[in-house]
Amino acid sequence: MKYYSTNKKAPYATLEEAVVNGLASDKGLYMPEKINKLPKEFFDNIDKLSFQEIAYKVADAFFGEDVPADVLKGIVYDTLSFDIPAVKVKDNIYSLELFHGPTLAFKDVGGRFMARLLGYFIHKEGEEKVNVLVATSGDTGSAVANGFLGVDGIHVYVLYPKGKVSEIQEKQFTTLGKNITAIEVDGTFDDCQALVKNAFMDKELNEHMKLTSANSINVARFLPQAFYYFYAYAQMKKIGKADNLVVCVPSGNFGNITAGLFGKKMGLPIKRFIAANNKNDIFYNYLKSGEYKPRPSVSTIANAMDVGDPSNFARVLDLYGCSHDEICKDIEGVTYSDEQISDIVSTAYTETGYLLDPHGACGYRALSESLKKGETGVFLETAHPAKFLNTVQGIIREEIAIPKKLQEFMKGTKQSVQMDKSFDSFKKYLMNID
Ligand SMILES: *Cc1c(COP(=O)(O)O)cnc(C)c1O
Repeated sequence: MKYYSTNKKAPYATLEEAVVNGLASDKGLYMPEKINKLPKEFFDNIDKLSFQEIAYKVADAFFGEDVPADVLKGIVYDTLSFDIPAVKVKDNIYSLELFHGPTLAFKDVGGRFMARLLGYFIHKEGEEKVNVLVATSGDTGSAVANGFLGVDGIHVYVLYPKGKVSEIQEKQFTTLGKNITAIEVDGTFDDCQALVKNAFMDKELNEHMKLTSANSINVARFLPQAFYYFYAYAQMKKIGKADNLVVCVPSGNFGNITAGLFGKKMGLPIKRFIAANNKNDIFYNYLKSGEYKPRPSVSTIANAMDVGDPSNFARVLDLYGCSHDEICKDIEGVTYSDEQISDIVSTAYTETGYLLDPHGACGYRALSESLKKGETGVFLETAHPAKFLNTVQGIIREEIAIPKKLQEFMKGTKQSVQMDKSFDSFKKYLMNID
């Protein structure tokens, strides 16, 4: 399958080129040239399949032409070594718990898949060393770093905004060592993302070293996120609740929801999506006004969604032929303040006993307010609440148990490279690495 750029100026790329390059040469995002629909029988019987079986069918529709079946199956099965259960919170609202992977956030799925696919391509070609640059607002860094840890021929640089990620998040990518380097940028997430984008555009730097991105701009990171929308549907079908399914996605860079929209185009019967924003309400305003006005991000307690210029917006536009009307038919928007987020974490906990993290809380709140009669809602619980320990404990005024996997990370020693936010400094640093 070929991949085109959303800016339509770069040449078509193979899957391998799209994965290794990350971003197209015209700064656009790669899109698969076709979206294969899955047959009706697949959906009729989906509730009888395992998560891995479902995911392999979906992966095959995207990558089957370019990766041998046994390799692709191996990558899918190895990536999904953990379950993603849909857990009832109340009435018709279910939490799709995406936090059972190694770093307790949904990004484990894309991070692990991409590491394995990139590893396959590099070894197949005997290519030179590849350097992965990844900007993180918190969870991407850990998922990507842990996904790539110890993979031969790949070095990962994680750029993160100093003082703007939680201590636990920071520990998950600054304590690993080996082929992982953490770079602590004196700036915001948007500054980190700009450094990464500039690095890809810099000719001299790209002649010096082979660079690729593991942000959700990379097709190997974001497409696998479609897997769990199908599995959510399968779980709802099993309990007879798959009709009129509404899915709410707490959104920042919009990679996660875009994967869901691809699923819908493949035939997955989701009635509508809700994109939940925190105070960074760029997409919400776009839905209201038809105008896309990026702004510098503001800090919130749902920090992984503090994005002022969501990179996958270009993909959403492309997917709907740039039609605001068509986008509004499939996606509804909401935006919540920190106060509203805290409120719902506290209320849900008191009323149902279910502890939400600040991101999932936006999803739960949106469904509580938006579901109509006869609809079932699933929100994506994108991270474990213990990843935002101080925030969550401060809200419910109770100590919460820290999962073992997280405790292990906390024991390590932080190591990071300090960096100011100018591209010159970053480039100089990279140019001096051999
Ligand atoms: C990354 C992240 C999000 C936002 O996902 P996007 O794909 O960037 O929209 C939401 N919640 C958590 C916990 C995250 O880590």
